[in-house]
Amino acid sequence: MDRQQDTLRAMLFDLDDTLLVNSMERFVPMYFQALTRWVADLIPPERLIAALMRASYAMDANDGSGPTNAEVFAAVFYPEVGYSQEELQPIFERFYAEEFPRLRALTRPIPEARSLVEWAFGRGLQVVIATNPLFPRSAIEQRLEWAGVPVSEFDYTLITSYENMHATKAHPAYYREILAYLGRQPEECLMVGDSWEWDIAQAASVGIPGYWVTDQNAPNLGSITLVGKGDLAGLWEWLRKY
Ligand SMILES: [Mg+2]
Repeated sequence: MDRQQDTLRAMLFDLDDTLLVNSMERFVPMYFQALTRWVADLIPPERLIAALMRASYAMDANDGSGPTNAEVFAAVFYPEVGYSQEELQPIFERFYAEEFPRLRALTRPIPEARSLVEWAFGRGLQVVIATNPLFPRSAIEQRLEWAGVPVSEFDYTLITSYENMHATKAHPAYYREILAYLGRQPEECLMVGDSWEWDIAQAASVGIPGYWVTDQNAPNLGSITLVGKGDLAGLWEWLRKY
């Protein structure tokens, strides 16, 4: 652990259920429902949901070799709903500005999130919001605000959104893209996240050690380097000693 601290140059934080209490199983259906209502006079709900699902699957298959996730989304989504991106874009932008904020009620801040982010900036570390890049930047910035760590106060080195990434967490390419952006070696980074598969195992597959936000036991550690596990308070306790 001490060695890890000496070489630490970048902190990567997952967002949902890591810096902010927000269960994706609950949030995504409500989010899709709200979006469906927003465009109901243009697109039948079943058609919109089907298009969102197909576009999401297409993004999840994006492996870093080609277009951005947003480009992959657009190529599937717009033909599927029968409107052009130019026609729908302003409507979606209004949705994120006016309706998306209501989803805040589904989430809850975590007290230590802000302390951790402040600590990382105070130490001069690069700080990355490593959230699965399926969402537009606006939807991520709002959740950061709900988490008490807004972009208005914290100048993050990188926030992975669907506009700037070429893979999702389903692929090691996601973490390679972050490392390349930071100009860092994997062992200089620490990934903090709640998903064993996406945040811990996938990061470990490119050599990035992880702190697993969980109250569970590790499924099968194998060769995975786990710096620790527990809640954010536990991580905060450990880091603040240095
Ligand atoms: Mg998460």
